[in-house]
Amino acid sequence: MSEFDFIDWIRRRATDRPPVSLGIGDDAAILAPSDRLLLVTTDMLMEGTDFTFPETTPELAGRKSLAVNLSDIAAMGGIPTAAFVSVALPRSRGMSFAEAFFSGLLDLADEFGVTLAGGDTNTWDNPLVASITLLGHPAGRSAITRAGAKPGDLIFVTGELGGSIQGHHLTFTPRIQEAKQLVDLVDVHAMIDISDGLAADLHHILKASGVGAAIDAERIPLRFPSGGREPPECGVHVSGSHDQGVNAPRSAGKTSLERALSDGEDFELLFTVSPNDANILERDWPLSTRLTSVGEITSENGCRLRFPDGTVQPLPPLGWRHDL
Ligand code: ADP
Ligand code: MG
Repeated sequence: MSEFDFIDWIRRRATDRPPVSLGIGDDAAILAPSDRLLLVTTDMLMEGTDFTFPETTPELAGRKSLAVNLSDIAAMGGIPTAAFVSVALPRSRGMSFAEAFFSGLLDLADEFGVTLAGGDTNTWDNPLVASITLLGHPAGRSAITRAGAKPGDLIFVTGELGGSIQGHHLTFTPRIQEAKQLVDLVDVHAMIDISDGLAADLHHILKASGVGAAIDAERIPLRFPSGGREPPECGVHVSGSHDQGVNAPRSAGKTSLERALSDGEDFELLFTVSPNDANILERDWPLSTRLTSVGEITSENGCRLRFPDGTVQPLPPLGWRHDL
């Protein structure tokens, strides 16, 4: 199969929906202008860093490549519309691998009403690289940025955190629906998606908003709570008597709490709202996705982690960093 046959195969599987009036097949796509603000996000995923084969299927790699971009649009309080997908495909893996990658990607695109509107297809003798640009528009009147958190705001997260490497990073549902629901219900002051870990991503909000925060350790929703199933590849489970804090059960040198704070790739939403809006959320939240209030925004800069016994620790922006 040639590159052109492959693009034809992709084209047959893709469906043009507004605002895309001309999708795959010409020298450029045509999008019908809309009076809404345009959101644009790009993420590049690389074999070896974001997924490995054969541990991951090519379908899940394709799915994840789009899902992380959907998560960024969700974090802006946005509705995704059109995607552009550029790939460097490893020649050795052949066409079935490429088709599987795009099948996984297109299934998720259909689920969220996203049009695959263009891209670029290359083959080479190196690992898979996929770069996706995703367009969208704000669900509400404006987009939600990292700036805008105010002292007194309550800090919320969706879902559960930590241990994403066990599989969640491949199968997570991007929080598009949740973001839309939040925008409909309340005035979200600041929002980010948790890609680098709660501690690191919270610091992005604090820095952009010029505020600080206090987080309650015992309120953080844990994907693998102590006593629960520990990630198998993470070695010895040393039992401890405390649920949280330094004496909690450890795996791979990290407690469940530390994992929730710093593992990253949770792709949950972290956002702040006024106390009044927090009450509205607690009363009227209609979705099954859990919302948890984990602390509050303070006027004093920096971030503190509070424990039930009254201990307070500084919470540095630990987590995943892309060091150059
Ligand atoms: P050109 O040589 O003019 O850049 P291409 O042959 O690269 O054209 O692409 C032809 C059409 O197929 C374009 O509309 C392009 O956006 C689309 N396309 C190519 N690769 C992909 C891909 N991986 N995913 C989606 N669309 C693609
Ligand atoms: Mg091209």
